[in-house]
Amino acid sequence: MTQTSTPAGSCTLVGAGPGDPQLLTLKAVKAIESASLLLVDDLVSDEVVALAPATARVIHVGKRGGCASTPQAFIEKLMITQTLKGERVVRLKGGDPFIFGRGGEEVERLRQAGIEAQVVNGITAGLAAVTGLGVPLTHRQHAQGVVFLTGHARRGAKVNWGAVATMAHSARLTLVIYMGISQASELARDLMQGMPPETPAAVVQDASLASQRHVATTLARLAQDIKEHGIASPAVIVVGDVTQNLASASAHPQFAQTAMAV
Ligand code: SAH
Repeated sequence: MTQTSTPAGSCTLVGAGPGDPQLLTLKAVKAIESASLLLVDDLVSDEVVALAPATARVIHVGKRGGCASTPQAFIEKLMITQTLKGERVVRLKGGDPFIFGRGGEEVERLRQAGIEAQVVNGITAGLAAVTGLGVPLTHRQHAQGVVFLTGHARRGAKVNWGAVATMAHSARLTLVIYMGISQASELARDLMQGMPPETPAAVVQDASLASQRHVATTLARLAQDIKEHGIASPAVIVVGDVTQNLASASAHPQFAQTAMAV
């Protein structure tokens, strides 16, 4: 692991994947196993944290919407001060650190403090969620690309959903929407400005975990089905033809990760 400020300290942002520890990369496992301090987000599963050495300090800094959380500025400060003190800091983040995880901001703050953080990719939730349904994100016949979006954009950085929908419909793109469950009704309404109401969609909760469940639906019925099936966070919404022909709902994973049909 590299660092610039002290010979001993280092900081690595590690993608912990969607939950199933089997989906960690070897590089992630090595980084966790050699950490002296872990700063852990709340979507990281306990089995992943358990890979840390017994001597490592573990600090949970989760910040899920609505819950008590450690402010981002404090987490960044901790990353910097502990690295400069000589700790081998591992910042464990759900999925991939650079997909909606504020990993980009953390790397920038560290760089401003003279620390070059390493980043280890993880399997992002949207990818695991779709694979967990046994369908691909792209498909030669009906999906020429994929767009990852947040349904919870920062104030002032709002997504133009109508434009996204028009483009996705004409270019045949799969939309994968993170953090969209609580605003599903507004999202679906805006997407229907550019996509037919009968466009297939699916919502996947707890992707890759034993508790994984999904509901297959359409844009028109999205919000209603989320409510009726009691789908809750963490979940991703997938919109596009790759989700057509799915069984309407499931309480358990129907396909092993390795059984993905292409
Ligand atoms: N960096 C993460 C995303 C962080 S944003 C990644 O790459 O996956 C948090 C959002 O990710 C949640 O609100 C939810 O939309 C999604 N998410 C995270 N874990 C998930 C899981 N196991 N199943 C479904 N969605 C998940």
